[in-house]
Amino acid sequence: MKHVYFHNADITIRDRNRLNNHKSGLVWFTGLSASGKSTIAHKVEKELFAKSIRTYVLDGDNIRHGLNSDLGFSPADRRENIRRIVELSKLFVDAGILVLAAFVSPCREDRAYIRKQFDASHFLEIYVKCSLEECEKRDPKGQYKRARKGVILNYTGVSAPYEEPDTPDLVIDTETMSLEESIRAAITFLNKKKFF
Ligand code: ADP
Repeated sequence: MKHVYFHNADITIRDRNRLNNHKSGLVWFTGLSASGKSTIAHKVEKELFAKSIRTYVLDGDNIRHGLNSDLGFSPADRRENIRRIVELSKLFVDAGILVLAAFVSPCREDRAYIRKQFDASHFLEIYVKCSLEECEKRDPKGQYKRARKGVILNYTGVSAPYEEPDTPDLVIDTETMSLEESIRAAITFLNKKKFF
C-alpha cells in the first residue's frame, strides 16, 4: 500500500513462543454446522488453559456479530469473512497465541488460501466430520429447520454446498466418536505436532 510502511518488531514469534513455552499457531476446524466444531474447540481450549497454554477461540457466530457484522453469505462476503479472520489470526499467532478457529468454511479454495497464509509448522486443518442427516437431527439452534423452510437462504448443506477436505491434517468423526474421544483426539494430535 502506498505510503504505508511495515514496522518490523524487535520481538519475534520465536521469542514469544520461547517465553510462553509452547508454539503458537492456527488450528482450523472445518465442517458442517452442528458437526461439533465449536463444542470441541471450547473444550480443547479449557484443557489447554489448565496446562498454561495461551489459546483463543475464534468462532463463526461471534465474529459475525462483531468484526464481520457487515458481511452476509454471498460468495464475495464469504471470501471477505475468511480474509479478515485470516488477518486477525495472523496477529494472534504472531502474538504467541494458539488460535482455535471454528468456521464452516465450505469452500476448498478458501481453505487452501488459509493454509497458504501460514508457515506449515504453525497451521493445522481439522475436519470435524458428521453427516448432514446427523447434523440436522442435532440442529442445536434450529437453523437447519429454518433453512429447510427457506427462511434462511444459502445454508451450507441444505441450499449451499460443503466441499469435503481432501487432505485435512486430522479427521474427527463426531458421529462415531464421543465428545470426550473427540477432545482427546484433538489434544493428542496437537501434542504430536509439537505445539506443546
Ligand atoms: P458447530 O460449531 O460445528 O456448528 P456445535 O459445536 O455448535 O457445532 O454443535 C454440535 C452439537 O453436537 C452439540 O450440541 C454437541 O453437544 C453435539 N455433539 C455430539 N457428539 C459430539 C462430538 N463427538 N463432538 C462434538 N459435539 C458433539
